[in-house]
Amino acid sequence: MTQLVDRFGRGHTDLRISVTDRCNLRCTYCMPAEAVFRQREELLTYEEISRVVAVATRLGIRTIRLTGGEPLVRRDLPRLVRMLVTIPGIVEVAVTTNGLLLAEQAGLLAAAGVARLNVSLDALSDEAFERITRRRGLAAVLAGLEAARAAGFRSIRINAVSIRGLTEAEIVPLARFCREAGFHLRFIEFMPLDAEQAWSDERVLSGDEVREILAREIGPLEPLPAADPGQPATDWRWADGDGLVGFIDPVTRPFCERCDRLRLTADGQFRNCLFSTSEWDVRGLLRSGGSDEAIAAALLACVAAKQAAHGIGSPDFARPARAMYEIGG
Ligand code: SAM
Ligand code: SF4
Repeated sequence: MTQLVDRFGRGHTDLRISVTDRCNLRCTYCMPAEAVFRQREELLTYEEISRVVAVATRLGIRTIRLTGGEPLVRRDLPRLVRMLVTIPGIVEVAVTTNGLLLAEQAGLLAAAGVARLNVSLDALSDEAFERITRRRGLAAVLAGLEAARAAGFRSIRINAVSIRGLTEAEIVPLARFCREAGFHLRFIEFMPLDAEQAWSDERVLSGDEVREILAREIGPLEPLPAADPGQPATDWRWADGDGLVGFIDPVTRPFCERCDRLRLTADGQFRNCLFSTSEWDVRGLLRSGGSDEAIAAALLACVAAKQAAHGIGSPDFARPARAMYEIGG
């Protein structure tokens, strides 16, 4: 049983850990064109992260997702994975990556014990990939996906952000590609976490709209019952055969009441929500001789302060000071 239960009765078992704010892409919905990164000394070391995870598992954390920035640009990520999978209580370590470096690292990550991979890919044309990410790299991502499969990863998920006026033309090719190749595609609504503050309600291409495009261009989809009540996605099945398409609709269908996630930023701050405007400093504790009890108390305080919902769309909604790449998606 998790001790990480908030005022609304939500238990927390999942910790998302950002290992860096650096990235080899500059996705327009996440990073500014010119990013200023934190100094390396500001980032938690792998030993510090492992200590925090050991404390968190004693409170009920069971699953870890490593993210960023781009986690694969941090040196020797498999070393961290090996450290985390041996911590008693941890049942799964997963990684979210843009896939650019997967061709070199997929085998090492699998051997280290990564259980699942999410790969972010919004476009299947070089031109659209570059327009969205401000970099080239589609061929490397596709090679990375193949390498991940060859390394033995099963049920690889592909995450695609949907943005009106930017990604519509990529929806159908992505769905066809994933269906043929057997990847589980998930469309994610655009959230107000971009660094350049270009988000607006009008630019959110909703899951319903994406589904309409898919039904019109490819064929009907049928909803599936949720396999795991905590999962934010609703999965749909192609009516005429195999293959799933998922929809994560944080803007039009918030899943806050089922949220079981906590976050640790690369610079060592606990957050209870992507949209949290407060943080609990664990790096300060780690570097000033703080006890395990003090780290546990910080995590419990973070959970106790969690709001009922993110509030996007409400008049008093305030964006967090950090953009997505500085939090960890
Ligand atoms: N670099 C890795 C990647 O791209 O997969 C991991 C970090 S990235 C911040 C994690 C996920 O957040 C990606 O799937 C990305 O598409 C998504 N993301 C980033 N900014 C977003 C935004 N403003 N709205 C919705 N999803 C976003
Ligand atoms: Fe980098 Fe991922 Fe953000 Fe794109 S979404 S800029 S790949 S951290």
